[in-house]
Amino acid sequence: MEANAWIDQAEHAILHTYNRYQIILERGEGLYLYDTEGKKYLDFAAGIGVQALGYGNSEYNAALKKQIDRLLHTSNLYYNQPIIEAAEKLCEVSGMERVFFTNSGTEAIEGAIKAAKKYAYEKDGTTDHEIIAMEHSFHGRSLGALAVTGNAHYREPFEPLPGIVKFAEYNNPDSVAALINEKTCAVIMETVQGEGGIYPAAKEFLAGVKEICEARDILLILDEIQCGMGRSGQMFAWQNYGVKPDIMTCAKALGCGVPVGAFLVTEKVACASLKPGDHGTTYGGNPFAGAAVSKVLDIFKEQNITGHVQKISGYLEEQLEQVKKDYGFVKARRGLGLLQGLELEPRVPAGEVSKKALEQGLILITAGNNVLRFVPPLVIERKHVDEMKEILRGIFDSYAD
Ligand SMILES: *Cc1c(COP(=O)(O)O)cnc(C)c1O
Repeated sequence: MEANAWIDQAEHAILHTYNRYQIILERGEGLYLYDTEGKKYLDFAAGIGVQALGYGNSEYNAALKKQIDRLLHTSNLYYNQPIIEAAEKLCEVSGMERVFFTNSGTEAIEGAIKAAKKYAYEKDGTTDHEIIAMEHSFHGRSLGALAVTGNAHYREPFEPLPGIVKFAEYNNPDSVAALINEKTCAVIMETVQGEGGIYPAAKEFLAGVKEICEARDILLILDEIQCGMGRSGQMFAWQNYGVKPDIMTCAKALGCGVPVGAFLVTEKVACASLKPGDHGTTYGGNPFAGAAVSKVLDIFKEQNITGHVQKISGYLEEQLEQVKKDYGFVKARRGLGLLQGLELEPRVPAGEVSKKALEQGLILITAGNNVLRFVPPLVIERKHVDEMKEILRGIFDSYAD
């Protein structure tokens, strides 16, 4: 069947919640994806920051196949070895003390919010606690995560959303301080805002918010779903800042393709928040997901992925800076590690650049307000950066005055 016929069928069978690019991806190998017509694409999106190890990693694939033949699922009424190993390894690399596994990022956020609310409830016996979230944040599409997402366009049709949420200005500690009252139970933010347009937290901001939180025993929730798992050059982006959260969320690259997320808490939160009966999931943390997470963390360690990111991200940054210098319509370059963005003037629509890139065999996505987002697999090499840059320059030349 022709690609167009497949796409027609898709639009009849699948609820139309995405305006998709008009290609059907079929297989992947290393840094490249191939569509059903055999066309090859260099991937600078990694399935939205998921495929940290690229495609077809044989060690990872072998571990999954082995687990499929052994045991896929049992429920959380019993223990299973793969998830115990995964939890231990995740606590080790994060320095957090307990983990709850979910199936997605948005569920990790739900759990983080519940843990924070329960912590406050245990402390003062009251409800109606408030959460401070950030403008231009993104935390997911389920109702609780949507309630803390700082994008009115995403939220409005679904209001009223659960809980009392106030929005502060990102990178402005005073605007956080101004919203604090005796009902505040948590501050939630991405360490680097992803969907909002690639804005890393300023050092003073994160330190300032941490100080405000500590002074009043308010929990700091850091969403590391996109910026975590090595992308920043440290295992988790907050490790670049030396500011440890009370609760942290993780997903996307955690399973490198197997749907899995997690929220992690410190000992303090573990001891005084969610208890048996307060939270649960049927699939979350099943043996298959456990085998995936466990193997991903092994490979990260063996191959020193964070060390590689530190080196290669410097090169990507340099090249993007050069592009910014050469094309006047590039307003800014921002980012941390392999989470980078180029903000363009309105006359050069990022969505249009992304479509042209696809035609030329480069997968590039957008973020926020006219920002090109660079979130390649973490195993990228210089030659891939160069290949991307050549295609991007060709496209940018067509917009030059
Ligand atoms: C993608 C993302 C989420 C939501 O994760 P899903 O797995 O799509 O539910 C939440 N927070 C951040 C920062 C994200 O990038």
